[in-house]
Amino acid sequence: MVNENRILESFLNMVQIDSVSGQEGNLRNYLSSRLENLGLTVYEDGAGVALQGEAGNIIAWLEGNISAPPVLFCAHMDTVVPGVGVRPVVEDGLVRSSGDTILGGDDKAGIAGILEALQVVKEQGLDHPPVEVVFTVSEEVGLMGSKHLEFDRIRSKWGYVLDADGQIGNIVIEGPAQNEFEIRVQGKAAHAGINPEEGVNAIVCAAHAIDSLTVGRIDEETTCNIGTVQGGRARNIVADECLVHGEARSHSPAKLERVTDHIINTFEEKVTAKGGRCHVQVTLLYGEIKLDKDEPVVQMAVQAAEGLGKEAVLTRTGGGSDANIFNQRGVRCANLGIGMKKVHTVEEYIAIKDLVDNARYILKIIEVAGQTRA
Ligand SMILES: [Zn+2]
Repeated sequence: MVNENRILESFLNMVQIDSVSGQEGNLRNYLSSRLENLGLTVYEDGAGVALQGEAGNIIAWLEGNISAPPVLFCAHMDTVVPGVGVRPVVEDGLVRSSGDTILGGDDKAGIAGILEALQVVKEQGLDHPPVEVVFTVSEEVGLMGSKHLEFDRIRSKWGYVLDADGQIGNIVIEGPAQNEFEIRVQGKAAHAGINPEEGVNAIVCAAHAIDSLTVGRIDEETTCNIGTVQGGRARNIVADECLVHGEARSHSPAKLERVTDHIINTFEEKVTAKGGRCHVQVTLLYGEIKLDKDEPVVQMAVQAAEGLGKEAVLTRTGGGSDANIFNQRGVRCANLGIGMKKVHTVEEYIAIKDLVDNARYILKIIEVAGQTRA
């Protein structure tokens, strides 16, 4: 079945291929050829061109040998920094970096699991539904790869992103949508000592508005934050401009809209009251994940976990992942825990047992998906 030495070797190979966001070219080459050797048809989409990166997203397809709906697996190819020149260390059943870089198990542990599962499917000639594989670029810089994914090529109605915290069996079925906002507050410049009464101070206008906002945790499923404030030209000029950046997140689209309206209205009212003007630009960064515990994509993951003797834990997250984009674009998608630890730090590590269990879990999901009807 799953071959521990083989998946470990494959994982160690991949973490040594540098793939910081935007520079996934070498990993793209490696993965394309591995997927082709496993019998998949491989397509690289135009995301690399759109994002001016080295590589686009990989979309690969394995024909099924039984009649069942396709199932999709996704992981991201890019890593955060410091991610160049990773030298993995294998010790006491764990893989870690040598301490001066991240490991890149986020998300190469996910990729390794998918590849190993496909390898086992092939060598054992197992029954399987069509399997669609998506390896994205630039996930770590705002889900940019999945946002530019050519969704008209995606044939699956459901799937799994292998990129969540926690143990194998952790199934993320809820995650918030996020709006980002950029608020440009405009005042009027004047000399601070000679004629300040002719000016309108944009920083004061912004401060007035911010002080009237409710920020932080709004309720158990909603948060709001002012992240940066920049403004002013010089000590002796009444500030004529102030730029404010912030965000709002909620598991409920209605609440997200309410918080966003609160921000827009508060700024407009308070800034105007102080004689300034403002322009609020809101961008939806990603939609929410809201899966029902009874729907097939969740049930298959639960059944597969239990089939391996693992506890299936349905959870929610406060963060975003490629799964948010898939759900937003109509592919029902859960994010699965892969056992990676201390990600985005130079102390990142993963247990070899978890690498193996990931592959076993994916294999089991493929098996269960083959018995599921649309
Ligand atoms: Zn990740």
